[in-house]
Amino acid sequence: MIYKKSPQEIEIMRRAGDILAATLDRLEAELRPGITTMELDEIAEESITSAGAKPSFKGYRGFPASICTSANEVIVHGIPGPLALKDGDIVSIDVGVYYEGFHADSAWTFPVGEVSGEVMDLLKATESSLWTAIEQCKPGNRVGDIGHAVESSIRPHGYGVVREYVGHGVGRALHEEPQIPNYGPPGRREVLSAGMTLAVEPMINLGGPETEALDDGWTVVTADRSVSAHFEHTVAIVPEGHEVLTRRGG
Ligand code: MG
Ligand code: MG
Repeated sequence: MIYKKSPQEIEIMRRAGDILAATLDRLEAELRPGITTMELDEIAEESITSAGAKPSFKGYRGFPASICTSANEVIVHGIPGPLALKDGDIVSIDVGVYYEGFHADSAWTFPVGEVSGEVMDLLKATESSLWTAIEQCKPGNRVGDIGHAVESSIRPHGYGVVREYVGHGVGRALHEEPQIPNYGPPGRREVLSAGMTLAVEPMINLGGPETEALDDGWTVVTADRSVSAHFEHTVAIVPEGHEVLTRRGG
C-alpha cells in the first residue's frame, strides 16, 4: 500500500526537510579531521531537537543514536562512537527528522580534509546519479525508471551499485512502500503519481557491489572493504514533476 500525501502533509514534510537540510549544513560546517562521529551525533541531535523535531533514527528498531555515520568502507547504518575522522577519510551522514507526524530522510557523503582524486570522483559520480534519478521522479514514470537512471549513470565508471539496500517511500513511517532499487530495467514496477513521497538513495562502492553486515547488527560494509558513497534526498511527486523536500543550501 502506497500512502499518498495531501499538499498540506507535503507542507509538513517540507518543514521536516528544511530542518534536516539545516542539520546537514551544520554538520558539514563542523566536519574536520579529529572530530569524532559521536560529536557529529551530538551536533545533529541538538540541531534537530532545538527546531522542535525529533531524530527519526533514535530508537528505531533499537538504533542507539540520532544519525548514522558511515566512514570509508561503511556503506550505511554506521553507529556514532569514539572514531575520530582523519584527513583523507570520507563519511556518509544519514539523518532522519520526525516533525508533526512525518519523517524526512536524507544522507550526504562528505570528504574529511583532502581526499584522493579517485575518491572525490566516486563522490561526484554518486551525487550525480542521485540527481539523474530524481529527474525521473514525475507522474507517469515508474519506480524502475529511478533505479535504471542510477545504474546507467554509474555504469561508465565501473563502480559497484549496492543491491541489498534500497530507497523507499517515506511519510508517517520512516520506511513505506514502494521499495526503490538502484538498478533494474526501466518501465517496470509501480507507476509514480502526485502525492507520493520517496527517499531516493544510491549507495555506490569504489569496488564491487557486494555487502557484509557486521556483528553489531547495524554496520554494513563493502565485502571488499573499498570505500562507499551514499547520497539521499526525500522527494515529493507533484503534478508538475517533483519537489526535493530536503534540498540544502537555502
Ligand atoms: Mg536515510
Ligand atoms: Mg532512506
